[in-house]
Amino acid sequence: MARIVVTRRLPAGVQPPVGSWVWEGEGPIPHGVLLEQVAEAEGLLCMLTDTIDEELLDAAPRLRVVSQMAVGLDNVDVEACRRRGVAVGHTPDVLTETTADTAFALLAAVVRRIPEGRDLVRSGGWGEWDPELLLGGDLWGTTLGIVGAGRIGSAVARRAAGFGMHLLYTGRRRKPHLEAELGIAYRDLPGLLSESDHVVLSLPLDDDTYHLIDAEALSRMKEGSTLVNVARGGLVDHDALVEALRRGRPARAALDVTEPEPIPPDHPLVGMPNCLIVPHIGSASVRTRRAMAELAVANLVAGLEGRPLPAAAT
Ligand code: NAP
Repeated sequence: MARIVVTRRLPAGVQPPVGSWVWEGEGPIPHGVLLEQVAEAEGLLCMLTDTIDEELLDAAPRLRVVSQMAVGLDNVDVEACRRRGVAVGHTPDVLTETTADTAFALLAAVVRRIPEGRDLVRSGGWGEWDPELLLGGDLWGTTLGIVGAGRIGSAVARRAAGFGMHLLYTGRRRKPHLEAELGIAYRDLPGLLSESDHVVLSLPLDDDTYHLIDAEALSRMKEGSTLVNVARGGLVDHDALVEALRRGRPARAALDVTEPEPIPPDHPLVGMPNCLIVPHIGSASVRTRRAMAELAVANLVAGLEGRPLPAAAT
C-alpha cells in the first residue's frame, strides 16, 4: 500500500512525488479502488470526480493531507478533514484567467449564435445572405450580472468592461475596491436577475447555493437574456431551466458544468438550439492544467513535510 495516492495521471511534465501510487486506468478511479488504496496513505492528490467524505477518511486513518487539483471543494468534506487534522489544499488563482476566458467565450458564442451558425453551414442550410438570419443579442452596451464576484467573477467583469458592458454583481459581501476599480454596482440576487441582460454564475456550490437558480430565480430574468454557468452544475435546477428556455426567459444558456456530469445525451437541454453545453473545460488550457497540477503537488508535499500549504482551503 502506498504512502501517497494520486487519483489520476497528471498533465505531461508534472511528476507526482517519488513513490506515489497513481491510478492509470481510463476515467476516474472507481470509489472502491480508492477506498482500498488509501488504507496506508498519508497524502492524497485527488480530482473533483472523487468523493472525499467520512467514509473515505475512515478508510484512511493515516491521512495527513488532501490536495485537490481544482479550486472548488464541493466534493470534499472540508469540515470532516479539519476535525481529523487532515490539511486540505486546492488550486485557486492559477486557473482564474483561463476560466474567465471560457466564461466569456461561452457568453459571446451563445449571444452571437455562433454554434447555430456553424450547424447551419455544416448541414448545407446556408442559402443566400438573409437580413433576418440568426439575429442574436449584443454584448456591447448591455448589462452583465455576476453572481459571485470572487477571483473568476472579477476576471469576467474586467473582460466585460473592455467590451463596453455595464456591470452588476451580487454576493455575500459588498466589494468597495471592485466597485471603485470597475464601476460595478451591487444588487441583491433578485435585483441582479431582473436588471441583467446576461448573467454569469461564478460562485461555489454548497448547501446554501444548491439550486440557487431555480424556477423562481429564472422567472425574474429578462426576456431575451442569457445564463452562463462556469461554476458547478448543482447551482442550477436543470428541469426548471428547460422550461425557462422554452419560454424564452432566459432566451439562451451556456453551460460548462451540468448536473449530473456527464449530462445524458438525451437530456432535453442537450438538443435545445438555444443551449450550448461543453464538457467542463473551464480551466482546460495546457498551461493552466500544468499550473494546477504543480500547485496540487506543492500542496501535497508541504502537507507531508508538516509545512503550511501554499494554497490551503480556508
Ligand atoms: P472565489 O474567489 O472564492 O469566489 C467565489 C465568490 O462567490 C465570492 O465572491 C463569494 O462572495 C461568492 N459566494 C460565495 N457564496 C455565495 C452565496 N451563497 N451567494 C452569493 N455569492 C456567494 O472562487 P473562484 O476561484 O472565483 O471560483 C468560483 C467557483 O468556480 C469555484 O468554487 C468552482 O466551483 C468554480 N470553478 C469552475 C471551473 C470550471 O472548470 N468550470 C474552474 C474553476 C472554478 P463573497 O466574497 O462575498 O464571500
